[in-house]
Amino acid sequence: MTENARKPPYDAARIETERQAAWIDRGDYDAPTPPADGERGVYVKSSSPFTSGNLHMGHVRDYTIGDAYARFQRARGRDVLMGFGFDAFGLPAELAAIERQIPAAEWVEQCGERMLEQMKRLGYSFDYDRVFYSSDEGQYRWSQWLFLTLYDMGLIYLDDATVDWCDTCQTTLATIQVEEGGTCWRCHNEVRLIRKPTWFLKITPYLEENDANMAKLEAQPWDDLALASQRFILGRTDGVEFEVDGPDGPLTVFTPHADAAGLATFVLLSPRHPLVETLAAGEVREQLEQLRSGGWERSARDAKEVPVIGTGLTVSGPKGELPLLVSPLVDARYGPAAVLGIPAVDEADRDIAERVDRVEVGEVPADDAPPPSAPVAGAQEAKRYRANDFSISRQRSWGTPIPVIHCPDHGPVPVPEADLPVVLPRDLVATGEGNPLAERSDFVDVECPVCGKPAKRETDTLDCHFDALFLWVPATLPPEDRATQMFTHPESKKWLPAERLVAGGDSGNFVFDQRVVTKALRDHGEFAYMTDGEPFEGCLFHEMVISEGRKMSKHLGNVVNPDELVGQFGADTIRVAVLWAAGPAKTLNWSDAAIRFANKFLRSFWIYAHDRMVELEGSKHDPEKAAATEKQREKLRGWCENGLQRIADDTANLQMHKAIRNLTRLFERIQQFEQQLKKKGQLDTADAEALVAAILLVARALQPFAPHAAEGILINSGRFTSDDLPGVWPDASTIAVAAEDAVTAAS
Ligand SMILES: [Zn+2]
Ligand SMILES: [Zn+2]
Repeated sequence: MTENARKPPYDAARIETERQAAWIDRGDYDAPTPPADGERGVYVKSSSPFTSGNLHMGHVRDYTIGDAYARFQRARGRDVLMGFGFDAFGLPAELAAIERQIPAAEWVEQCGERMLEQMKRLGYSFDYDRVFYSSDEGQYRWSQWLFLTLYDMGLIYLDDATVDWCDTCQTTLATIQVEEGGTCWRCHNEVRLIRKPTWFLKITPYLEENDANMAKLEAQPWDDLALASQRFILGRTDGVEFEVDGPDGPLTVFTPHADAAGLATFVLLSPRHPLVETLAAGEVREQLEQLRSGGWERSARDAKEVPVIGTGLTVSGPKGELPLLVSPLVDARYGPAAVLGIPAVDEADRDIAERVDRVEVGEVPADDAPPPSAPVAGAQEAKRYRANDFSISRQRSWGTPIPVIHCPDHGPVPVPEADLPVVLPRDLVATGEGNPLAERSDFVDVECPVCGKPAKRETDTLDCHFDALFLWVPATLPPEDRATQMFTHPESKKWLPAERLVAGGDSGNFVFDQRVVTKALRDHGEFAYMTDGEPFEGCLFHEMVISEGRKMSKHLGNVVNPDELVGQFGADTIRVAVLWAAGPAKTLNWSDAAIRFANKFLRSFWIYAHDRMVELEGSKHDPEKAAATEKQREKLRGWCENGLQRIADDTANLQMHKAIRNLTRLFERIQQFEQQLKKKGQLDTADAEALVAAILLVARALQPFAPHAAEGILINSGRFTSDDLPGVWPDASTIAVAAEDAVTAAS
């Protein structure tokens, strides 16, 4: 045998191309067809990226974790679905299209195709036949259906919202389109805030249930980061409430300071509290209007001083008259509530009291004074949630058309379901000026569904956050059935709730609102089988990938390009590097050290495996010598048993960094076994066979993380054909300890 054949190079590009072709032939990625009443399959839902045109390292981290888990579950014999779709509507795509002066639809298609190529090259085992784009007609038809359904349930309503408006460009602007000095990104003229009728999604009816379910989720595989995000968004505060005499009848007031309620010196109202509508006249009214028409959002964005308005009115509390104030500060803490201001115990209240003359701050206790006790008799335990309804409509041309027609006689009229989808013109080229959709008479001018008179279509589109409310659904059913059964397909029941969502640490809002919508559709009937209204049984949030201690950005020149790394080292190296470098809860500070480690490990394991197989062929058997090393083989088997158990536990918990550490440790142990025996001369066939068996176990345990190299080693051993793989999770009992058994296995 020549030296070259003894040391085959680890040629990642060749191995990976071969294996990927084999996986497609084997149909590895195809979602298994469900048995009539089989057990629930493992649905791994990864992030749905914007169609930016390039995967970044955050995506690579997300999909590598999800893919390793999916492959591990397949090896354990479970039915697995890796679902994927693009969040393709929205501002990033619209802005990119404006820059290039092409229809957004065209841009999105180019980007999606390129990103799918990148994903396939990295070996991600998504069911690519089930990939979807939220901007596809067959997809946004269901966003429109969801809008109509929630509207029907009273969960969508029209209200005024404050938006940034550019007079020159005649358009509303997203926050990121407003430059630092309050000017327009496009024309640099001053932006003003206007009030505009906007569609809102009502989530408040489900806050209590989202809260109550937290205990359940804690007992399920939800990680701390994901749980914390849900608690933060919910923003629950516990306290007490009781009634006081307000200017318009009884008013329920809340405070988290149950023991100090009697020390209140004012009552603070949220501008969204219903009582505000009926308050005051004249100057106060004007101030309130100003607050509601802009000051509020603008100040929340750039001023430290959030406005506080005195109404000149008082309420009579248990201990006398309390001035009534209005401030959005309430919203930021407790939602649209009425709360007691208690400067004696609450620092934020103290700040307010100092800013408003008419309020007696009272004696501020010294820091070391015991907490004052002044509970109010009859106060009931209560809670408030900061989470609130939010706007879902945008004046954008790249989004789901809102299925509403405005009739001069009938006001807003929902489009009948039979007329869906309301199709977005695909050839629209946005300029950033005006509202391109409103200028298309073929889109705008329609008849009222009620009276048939000329009417106008709604020209706002849905924020892509709304499309995202059900992005976890489409992959659970065959594409050909989506047109008719998006939310009612029997196959979805095999996959839902999803066993794991794997998403970035900033996905909390998406998940929270997806949990709300699942409950709404459960109550409406479609998701009745998800009785607790939870779409994700398990949830893993991972932190982001940074570089040189800073967020990656073109400007800083520290962007790590996955394509370059794949070209240089291969997909398996990147996969192992990104998994090994940090646990999912930690920010991953990218460094070449991780790549070097991963590449060195794969390369040396590849060559080691090959060499030991060659040595086994040339080994000799001496029954006496083999009997003497039985103890060592027993030990090796024990190491393998332990190691495999740890790797399996780590992987099941998505702690892939630990799994890979345990895997490399096991590889070291195997090398120790060999070195110890080689001190006494050439390995006996029984030992050489045990060594190869252990190597093949490690290769099989490596499959979830470096699937190409692992399968390459297994096939090169001559003991597996491509069709045997991915096979089942390895079992250490296959290492034969008794001398003659080991020799039999080798021959
Ligand atoms: Zn402008
Ligand atoms: Zn009408």
